[in-house]
Order: sequence, then structure tokens, then C-alpha cells
Amino acid sequence: PLPNAIFGEGRVNSAGVDLSDPLVREPLLASLTKLQGKRWSAAPTGGGSGDKCSIVSPFDTSLVVGEAIWASEKDVDRIVRSAHAVQVEWDQLGGEARAALLDRAADLFEEHREELFSLCIREAGKTLLDAVLEVREAVDFLRYYASEARRLFTGATSLPGPTGELNELRLHGRGVFACISPWNFPLAIFIGPVAAALAAGNSAIAKPAEQTPLIGALAIELMHKAGIPKNVVQMVPGDGRAGAALTSHPLIGGVAFTGSTDTARAINRSLANRDGPIVPLIAETGGQNAMIVDSSALPEQVTRDVVASSFQSAGQRCSALRVLFIQDDVADSMLEMIAGALDALSIGDPSDITVDVGPVIDEEAKAALDAHLAELGKPIAQLELPANAKRGHFVRPTMVEIKSLADLDREHFGPILHVIRWKSGELDKVIKSINSTGYGLTLGLQSRIDTTRLYVERNARVGNIYVNRNQIGAVVESQPFGGEGLSGTGPKAGGPHYVARFATERVTCIDT
Ligand code: GLU
Repeated sequence: PLPNAIFGEGRVNSAGVDLSDPLVREPLLASLTKLQGKRWSAAPTGGGSGDKCSIVSPFDTSLVVGEAIWASEKDVDRIVRSAHAVQVEWDQLGGEARAALLDRAADLFEEHREELFSLCIREAGKTLLDAVLEVREAVDFLRYYASEARRLFTGATSLPGPTGELNELRLHGRGVFACISPWNFPLAIFIGPVAAALAAGNSAIAKPAEQTPLIGALAIELMHKAGIPKNVVQMVPGDGRAGAALTSHPLIGGVAFTGSTDTARAINRSLANRDGPIVPLIAETGGQNAMIVDSSALPEQVTRDVVASSFQSAGQRCSALRVLFIQDDVADSMLEMIAGALDALSIGDPSDITVDVGPVIDEEAKAALDAHLAELGKPIAQLELPANAKRGHFVRPTMVEIKSLADLDREHFGPILHVIRWKSGELDKVIKSINSTGYGLTLGLQSRIDTTRLYVERNARVGNIYVNRNQIGAVVESQPFGGEGLSGTGPKAGGPHYVARFATERVTCIDT
């Protein structure tokens, strides 16, 4: 029978790495230095016949991290067919056996964490702190979804049989799941949906972002090393064409996508237009995330949490704070403190442990953010770039005041914080304007007034509300993550309803 408890048998999240301990940090930095020259590679599982390209570091485009071979349409077709051929056997293996393999993969991710950190830094431009958090989250997804496989896919749930009949519900994999992931979490969000799909008895095809195929390739190699059969989890590096070949393929049984709202719409259209079964799309998309600060908030806490929410990971999290609504009685003094904290950040090569803010992912991202900055008024605060910034894609972390949310046509995915002042008595107006964007991902609130919190909770249409803390870094199982409206379909990653959405339900009724 299915246990009803949501939380996995005493499972705890991984410990990560304590970077404040020199006995841990110094040997780690030495290993990372050794790994700096290493070249990596990525190719479609079983070999590829598409274009070849070099992957360079976003903080220094003269550093080649490795080579990738893109999947051609023919490769995608072969991979989908071979994944389809093994899916039923994988499903029939049962939840416990699949969970054991995912747990083994989590152990291997921890054993190989230095290579994974190195790739997060060199391929994706992450700071060491972000790299540590990312590997930790990936490990936690693997173990949490393993515990979900045990909870949901071991045996049947007995249902009431009012006339004496036996009713049983079982969950099964749907088929081949395409898991299309973004560059901003090239390991955690790459492997999370794959792990969920596998836990639920699907075979999985992982399509990494074109900017970050190398870390994805290492992750899939570790999944195979853990004993997950080669055809059950496969990889298709490539650009949008590989994604389109996947989502238009008639043998795909579901799609899990994280990325832009526009691409999610395109995938929806592609799934609707193709032959084959009607399948689900699980989409995690963008946000226009706000934080509301009222005059009861603690200034030091606001400062710390705003800076982390807006500028950690160079603002390249879909949870990141984009628009700070600050009550005008306290605005001047708090903005001055935030400006001071922004000024104290260091930006540059993220392989330097003292750096807080790394580059943005590529030239296109930099150009779009710089163009947006050029359209805005004079910043309240703006960080200078380091002398060698021209080697990579750096954008100046900036805080700038705007009149209203309507001035922002879309999400600006980088280290830019927009500020809007509001007056006492206007909370309702603020919430309405946040809801009117149609996005609904994260919302920060800094307030010591309970009725304000209750009002915000009741009226804000967002997936994750963070009160008196920063609004990034959702923890697996503790803060299931994901939005609504233009921000995604749900279910929440790292939450108790996620894995079941990758499954189909079957009921047997036996008359006695
Ligand atoms: N889960 C991440 C966080 O809470 C954000 C995920 C994303 O950027 O897609 O910060």
C-alpha cells in the first residue's frame, strides 16, 4: 500500500560544502585550479551527426571549456525510438529499484562534485558559492525524487469497494519524457526533471541548453555509471532545432520544460500539432518578481535580502527580484543602504573566490540587458566593471528607479533592480499591479505587521512568497518551487505533487 506521509522516511538534504572552513575550502580551491585546463565534451547518446561547436567561458571567451556535437533530427529520432523501446521494462522494474539507482547517482554526483563545481564555474560563469548550491540542489532532487518513487510507485493504493469489489490504483510511466532545461541551472534543473521522469517509470531524454551542454553530458555519464541503462536516460545536445525535433516527435509521452514563456507556448503548439497521443507539458517559465517593503521592515535585513535576491547569480535566476516596491517614508534611507551594499560587491572572474557577481551567460544576453539599461533613467547605484571585463559578458549591476510596473514590458534576466515607491494605504494598489503582470513566480515581503502579511498571502497570485528573507534559493522538499499564470503550469519542483505529474494512473476493479 502507498504510505500517505508526504515526507520521505527521514531523508535529509545533502550537507553541501562549508566554504567558510579553510580546511575544506583550500583543498577544494587547489583541486579546482587543477581542473582549470581540463577539456570536456558532449555528444548525443550513441553518437551524433550534427554540427560541432566549441563551448567557451562566459567570463573569458578565449577560454575553451570543451567541444559539443549537436544532435541532428536523425539522431533525435533514433534516440527517441531507442528510449521508447526500453520504457516499459524500466516502468516494470518498480519504484524501489528505480529509487536505488537514483540514490546511487546522487552518491556519484557527490563523489564527482569537484568536476561539477568546475563546470558550473567555467561553462556557466557561476561563482563557487552558486556552484556549491547548485550541486547540492541536484543531489537533493535525485534523492528526493527517489524517495517519491518509493512512496508512489511501490505497490497499489486500495480504494473503497462499497459493493465488495476490490479497487486498486497504480501509477505508471507515460512513455518517453523530453526534459528541456535552461543554462541558468545547467545541472540542478537539467537533472531534476530527468530524475522525476525516471522515478515515475518513464525513459528520459535530456536536452541541455545550447550554452551549457558539457555539465549535462557529465551528469548523464554519472547516471549511466550509477547503473541506469543507457537507453533509459539519453542526451540530445543541440540548439532550438533539437528541441523542436523532440517536441514534434510522435513517440514523446510528455515534456518538462524550463525556460522562457514564449518557448513554452511554442512547445504547446508543437505538441498540439503533431501526431501521437495527447501528452502533458510541465513548464517552469519566467517571472516579474517583486519585493514589497513597508515602513516596519528592518533596514539591515532589507539591504541584505534585496542584494542577494537581485544580484546573486548575476540576477540570472527566474526567482530573482526585479522590482522593489518600497514605502516612501523609508525609501530614501533604505535605498542609500542598498546602494552602499551594491557598491561593496565585487564583480569579475567567478573562479576568484572573492567575486560576488559573475558574468551573464552570453553576448546576446549582455546586449539585451545593456540596451535596457540605456533606456532607463539615471541609476541610483551602479557597479563599475573590472578592467578585464571586455574578455567576457559582464553587465553592470544596477539599481534604478522607475515610475510603474507598466514601464517594464518583460522580464530582464540579469543584475538590474528596478525600484518603485509606494505610499501608506496603497498596498492594495501594489498587489493589483503585481498581479496585473500575469506572471506569478516569487514575491518578497519585508514587514513586521501580521495583517499585512496575511493580506499579501491572500491576494498575491504567486507561487512562492518569502517573508523577511531573500526570495531565491528554494530548498528541495522544504520550499517546493514554481509559479502560475505566465510563470508556469506547476507542479512545483521539489514538492510532493511533482513526480506524480510525470505518471499516468491505472485502476483495476475486481469483482469478487
Ligand atoms: N529554484 C531557483 C531559486 O529558487 C530558481 C530556478 C530558476 O531560476 O529557474 O532560486
